[in-house]
Amino acid sequence: MAPTVVVLGGAYGGLHVAHYLLKNNKEAKVVLVSKTSHFFWNLASVRAIIAGTIQDKQMFVSLADALSRYPKDRVELIVGSAEAVDTTAKTVKVSVPGAAERSFAYDQLVLATGSRNTQLKTQSVPGADNASPIMPWKADNTYEDYLALLHSTQEKVKAAKHIVVAGGGSTGVEVASELGYAFAGKSVDKGGKEIVLLSSGEVLGGDTISGSARNELKKLHVDVRTTGAVTAARTLPDGRTELTVAGASEPVVTDLFLATVGLTPNTDYLDAKLLNAKKYVEVDEFFRVKGVAENNVWAVGDVVSKPRAGFIITQKQAGGAAKNIDLVLKGKAPQPVKGFDMDILAVATGPSRGVGRFGSWRLPSLAVWLAKGRTLGVQMTSSYVDGSVA
Ligand SMILES: Cc1cc2nc3c(=O)[nH]c(=O)nc-3n(C[C@H](O)[C@H](O)[C@H](O)COP(=O)(O)OP(=O)(O)OC[C@H]3O[C@@H](n4cnc5c(N)ncnc54)[C@H](O)[C@@H]3O)c2cc1C
Repeated sequence: MAPTVVVLGGAYGGLHVAHYLLKNNKEAKVVLVSKTSHFFWNLASVRAIIAGTIQDKQMFVSLADALSRYPKDRVELIVGSAEAVDTTAKTVKVSVPGAAERSFAYDQLVLATGSRNTQLKTQSVPGADNASPIMPWKADNTYEDYLALLHSTQEKVKAAKHIVVAGGGSTGVEVASELGYAFAGKSVDKGGKEIVLLSSGEVLGGDTISGSARNELKKLHVDVRTTGAVTAARTLPDGRTELTVAGASEPVVTDLFLATVGLTPNTDYLDAKLLNAKKYVEVDEFFRVKGVAENNVWAVGDVVSKPRAGFIITQKQAGGAAKNIDLVLKGKAPQPVKGFDMDILAVATGPSRGVGRFGSWRLPSLAVWLAKGRTLGVQMTSSYVDGSVA
């Protein structure tokens, strides 16, 4: 009987592995399980929260369309959520909205369920709503839910006069820059808004390019405050949000609070013995999950987050793990998956500039703009449709 490879997660990692196996292994059947029916180019979300900048169709690819080029008996798409993995019985339980829970048997299993935005803890006050925001930087729900979230965020951005972005990592710097470019430094009657970036320390974690990022944010009239982390958020009766900032004597009150305060791995469905203390999956040099006796479970991308979370890193890992699965299915030995020799960091500071480095070499703004900021890479979604990414 043809071996079954079950892939959990239909984003950069999971879809890449599925394409590779369907193109290179003529035997295996691939079952792709994804919470969302669409592949999502989340890198563009930082700009897409401003209505009219990026169309929905530029960021989303129907997974059914992406897999339609392969023979029907070789691929199955399940839009549902993996709820449990039994590595002894070699089965995955999947909940499918509006249907009974299903169980899938696998010969090889790939974990590519990524990560979601970390939410802040909230304080509840009489007459106030829950102020812990779900953010559109990652899709951790259905396609329809995600679109509704993105569109409501666009409306909130439009209506706000004062916006606070919390978190000074790459996402926070990119979001604040996009908002600064579009709205800051203008009078309110000309659509101007005050944009504040709150960070617990130097932006970009004090990386060698953080000074350049600070300069770009200044040019974009973003008010950068690096004095303390946002520790709590609550909705006031008038609809605005009150933020508690560590070390500050006064809370910050804003029309719109956008949190970019980290990522949480989507590994709740996995046995704790497969996870490290931070709940990420531990893998060996072949990208097989450690602690599985049969060596038939693999993990790539943000569920691993080593050396860090990144889509280019995910692509490399997905390519390596998929090749190894193909080798194993053909009775051959897997090969160590190589990473990048140099660390690349590229941060778009609005649609016309950027900061970055290649290893320790600084990249000129023009290079970052060409490689990233100009389009935020949306043109690359086509490679996930036609499979040329793999
Ligand atoms: C705003 C932003 C900008 C970024 N920009 C860059 C950049 O410029 N360069 C770069 O290298 N990296 C960038 N990254 C990082 C990049 O987005 C991630 O590394 C990448 O998304 C990882 O892909 P993945 O496939 O591992 O997981 P994810 O993209 O997190 O996708 C996981 C998928 O699995 C699904 N899923 C989750 N749980 C389940 C379940 N139980 N069952 C079934 N499906 C499930 C999710 O719905 C999702 O579709 C950025 C991240 C953010 C947030």
